[in-house]
Amino acid sequence: MTGKDRRFPLSLSSVVDQQKRSSSGSPSVRVATPQTATQNAARSLTGRVTPAIERRMSANPERQQPLVSESVRRAMVARLANQGIKDKLVLGAMEAVQRHLFIEPGLVAQAYVDASIPIGYQQTISQPYIVARMIEVLRNGGVLNRVLEIGTGCGYQAAVLSVVATEVYSIERIRPLHELARTNLRPMRIANVRLQYGDGMLGLAQAAPFDGIILAAAGLNIPQALLDQMSIGGRLVAPVGARHQVLQLVERVSKFDWVHTTLEDCHFVPLQAGTV
Ligand code: SAH
Repeated sequence: MTGKDRRFPLSLSSVVDQQKRSSSGSPSVRVATPQTATQNAARSLTGRVTPAIERRMSANPERQQPLVSESVRRAMVARLANQGIKDKLVLGAMEAVQRHLFIEPGLVAQAYVDASIPIGYQQTISQPYIVARMIEVLRNGGVLNRVLEIGTGCGYQAAVLSVVATEVYSIERIRPLHELARTNLRPMRIANVRLQYGDGMLGLAQAAPFDGIILAAAGLNIPQALLDQMSIGGRLVAPVGARHQVLQLVERVSKFDWVHTTLEDCHFVPLQAGTV
């Protein structure tokens, strides 16, 4: 496989092929890294950390910072649990994904602080708590097959989603950020995430319906196209509002009925129409 072939979006066949190759004893050498214990911890927490997640642990060594140790990430996960995140699969995913690899080198020391961090183009990587909270609400202890994320940003939340869902589609409207996410995710070889450049307010009709939709940017309301692309029984989590924002859960209970529940205050960058 050439480097070009590995570019996102990856086809489902490449996912299957990759899994076949790794299970058929390809000559990939497993080297113990400082992250090995984290992998083990994540595996024992989630019970289903994928080979892609394991590979990502040792990916991109030049961006590994000695100060960003597994214990710092474990402390972040302990904080999330104290803040009320209960879902073990979500906590395991937060422990498995190395947030510092999504942050520019100058800001890496902030990587495991519970704060949003600039990623350029006036956008931010969401704070760990809200990423965990939204995914916990989306999952509701159930199985997520096909998930759509609006607002890829640097790709961090998409990577976390890749641990808890079978297939993840993520749309970004700012081309350089879409490219940044590609660059960040490529060395991690996550086979079940597909990145799409476009206006997420229109959803992704060709991949619909989704049993989970997550918005990483706040609109004044939730676009009807996204409500229409939910499967019946599906869940959508989104920040809604302008200066004052609340997290909303929408459950599609029938072809024509959606139930909205307001959860808690939050603060996100705005959802904007069109592409740039
Ligand atoms: N999930 C991201 C958070 C990025 S911030 C992460 O983990 O880093 C939210 C992102 O939503 C921004 O990159 C912004 O450009 C994007 N966005 C805003 N409106 C959008 C739209 N209509 N379609 C797609 N992306 C959008």
